[in-house]
Amino acid sequence: MEGKKTKKVNKVSAKKKKQIISSVFMVLFIAAYIYFTNEAEKENAQQSADTGNIISINADPSGAEGITYESFAYTDVPEYTGNKAVEINGNIPFFTYEELQSAKERVYFEDYGAFDNLGRCTAACACLGRETMPASGEKRGDISSIHPSGWHQRKYDCVYDNTIMTRSHLIAWMLSAENDNEKNLISGTRYMNSDCMTEYEKKVQSFLYDYAPMHVLYRVTPVYSGNELVARGVLMEAKSVEDNGLLLQYCVYIHNVQPGIKLNYSNGYSDYTGIFFDIASSSVVTDDIDLDAYKIEMDTHTCHNVDCRMSGDAIIFAGDTSMVSKWTELGYKTCSCLENEIYANAA
Ligand SMILES: [Zn+2]
Repeated sequence: MEGKKTKKVNKVSAKKKKQIISSVFMVLFIAAYIYFTNEAEKENAQQSADTGNIISINADPSGAEGITYESFAYTDVPEYTGNKAVEINGNIPFFTYEELQSAKERVYFEDYGAFDNLGRCTAACACLGRETMPASGEKRGDISSIHPSGWHQRKYDCVYDNTIMTRSHLIAWMLSAENDNEKNLISGTRYMNSDCMTEYEKKVQSFLYDYAPMHVLYRVTPVYSGNELVARGVLMEAKSVEDNGLLLQYCVYIHNVQPGIKLNYSNGYSDYTGIFFDIASSSVVTDDIDLDAYKIEMDTHTCHNVDCRMSGDAIIFAGDTSMVSKWTELGYKTCSCLENEIYANAA
């Protein structure tokens, strides 16, 4: 009797011990969870603090379905110093986990943000795939009837095609087949549009060709300062969807500038300054035209092959096509005499 009772008591206490132990573990687990969650929040807060004065570029006031826009510190973007693009956020796009999940569910889509109260374009966000690209043989249409906010055209000798302003697609036609969607066109310089954005658009285009049927979550946000009608630049974000950005991912800011010209961002008016980044320091002047050499026509800031007859007064530099690429990066235009050469080099 006595022994039996003791045994029962022992049994109960063993059960209680187990309960106590599991409770302790539970408490420890919860404490650890709270600790690590707090740490993660602190880290996020720290990151936000590090980015300084954040200007919201919250773009789509109507709130595109399933997509919420992030913030971005425009004030932290360094001034233009001759680089085509500035990597932002360690080249990691600001897409949230939810945005990426939503893109996976929707497979492909294109959302163009509503105009803001100043009639300016806001962000365009899309999940791009072969489905959204132009059909083979599809031709781009005329978009000259669109006049984006701050549109003011002017001609300059130093600009390719002479016109400084271009109707810049936020999401390129080659990716979206969007032709004259006015919510997708901003006043952009020839340099930003043709020389800088195209390079990043082509990265997405190549990816979609090479890795079909994969998709790319893509967002281009015009960044304005105050009430100015012309964007100071664009933030371009891309992330391959199915592999969570393993094969393609970038986050860059591109300045809406035109070397040699000063743009008034309030109204789109512009003036010639003749200020270009110094090429002489990085290039070797030569008289020996048997060398690989190219020349720059100084009046029009045009690069030529050394034996081109179209040139006026020019300075000759020794170097290969990478030197010419650097010049174009700095905003110099290229003569048709270089087209084959540059193209062959790029291909
Ligand atoms: Zn030429």
